[in-house]
Amino acid sequence: MEYDVVVVGAGPAGSMAAKYASKGGVSVLLIEEHQEIGQKACAGLISTRALDECEIGLGKWIKNRIRGSFIYSPDGTCLTIDGKETKAYVIDRKIFDRELAKQAVRAGANLLVKAKATSLKDGKLDILTQGESLEVHPKIIIGADGLSSGIAKWAGLDKAKKVIGGVQIEGLYDVRDKDFVEVFVGSVAPGFFAWAVPLEDGIARIGLCTTAGPLRHLTNMLKSHPIVSRRYRGSHLDLKVGAIPLGPPERTTAEGTILVGDAAAQVKPTSGGGIYTGALCAKIAGEVAAAAVKEGDVSAKRLAEYEKRWRSAIGRELSIGMRIHEVMERLNDSDFNEVIKTLDDPGILGIISQYGDMDYPSTVVKKLILAKPRLLKLSGIFAKALR
Ligand SMILES: Cc1cc2nc3c(=O)[nH]c(=O)nc-3n(C[C@H](O)[C@H](O)[C@H](O)COP(=O)(O)OP(=O)(O)OC[C@H]3O[C@@H](n4cnc5c(N)ncnc54)[C@H](O)[C@@H]3O)c2cc1C
Repeated sequence: MEYDVVVVGAGPAGSMAAKYASKGGVSVLLIEEHQEIGQKACAGLISTRALDECEIGLGKWIKNRIRGSFIYSPDGTCLTIDGKETKAYVIDRKIFDRELAKQAVRAGANLLVKAKATSLKDGKLDILTQGESLEVHPKIIIGADGLSSGIAKWAGLDKAKKVIGGVQIEGLYDVRDKDFVEVFVGSVAPGFFAWAVPLEDGIARIGLCTTAGPLRHLTNMLKSHPIVSRRYRGSHLDLKVGAIPLGPPERTTAEGTILVGDAAAQVKPTSGGGIYTGALCAKIAGEVAAAAVKEGDVSAKRLAEYEKRWRSAIGRELSIGMRIHEVMERLNDSDFNEVIKTLDDPGILGIISQYGDMDYPSTVVKKLILAKPRLLKLSGIFAKALR
């Protein structure tokens, strides 16, 4: 069984990379260690742009449409950001990931589920599938195997600069408005934030990411957060834990190897969203892999085209996002109260509603700095956080 390209991991990034490598005219094997695709812990909130990037359109995977957000400070002040039209979708990851895998197969990739990559040495990839060992010698391996990427380790590539733990339930919840997600900042989720993403009236995904004890913080939030505890009806249908890699490593390519998606920490540090960024980079990965195979040059030097192209597409946005994240994670509850109070101004909210972009948050930050000098008063808080 020989293939030009083996993609390890059939999450959104792996399926997209497999699809694009297949479209490039080379033979592709996509493997997934689980027996079912789409097992990931995820709030499933993606922008309308992300849906386009995934080339998947509207379908059974769309559970809800979102037009804005309610952002709550620790003292309960609520900022309402209303995009006035659908800005994002809530997706069912199981159906969504399966559809992306289907598209990869339709493009020509072979898919093997319950097939785990167990080692990579001198270009030989070992796969364990249903008790049987397979040995493959692909020209290129695309590591789309998520946060704990074995491919990254075996290829001697670094992982994310930082990892944040996450936990989420799908539970009975008195949704305030099904067109809006709720975001809670401050000590409810130190280092990141908490959310309630409505699926339908009466049901939401409630979760958080934090640098310390996610499960403990979620339990506390459900039990005693002044807003969440009143809306949560005390029962949930599932509980999923996960983690988010932040800050891509210096290199995401090596001889015959490319990393993509969470394996390359191609995740937005402000929101933890990785579906849009992963899909965008995976297309480049698939294209470059196919071209390199056809040229008969899979050296790290040749594959550097991938590195260059994905960094020029989103590298700057990710590093600005990382700086914003580093400031935000150091704010205490009274800082957050002050920030939200300052942003609670019709002119400022108008700018956020108009220019807010969950994939490119730097756009609205720049607009706000230029248009609202009164925001300079927050610079003291941010400067203190950076000390
Ligand atoms: C709590 C939480 C909430 C999130 N919410 C959002 C959100 O609302 N919006 C958003 O855009 N992003 C969100 N994310 C991030 C998003 O889930 C990831 O960025 C995205 O799934 C990354 O896709 P991927 O294909 O790179 O990796 P993954 O989806 O992790 O897929 C990797 C795949 O590789 C497989 N694999 C691993 N090792 C092997 C192996 N050795 N052999 C074979 N297969 C292997 C795994 O089983 C898995 O299927 C969230 C993450 C968490 C933890």
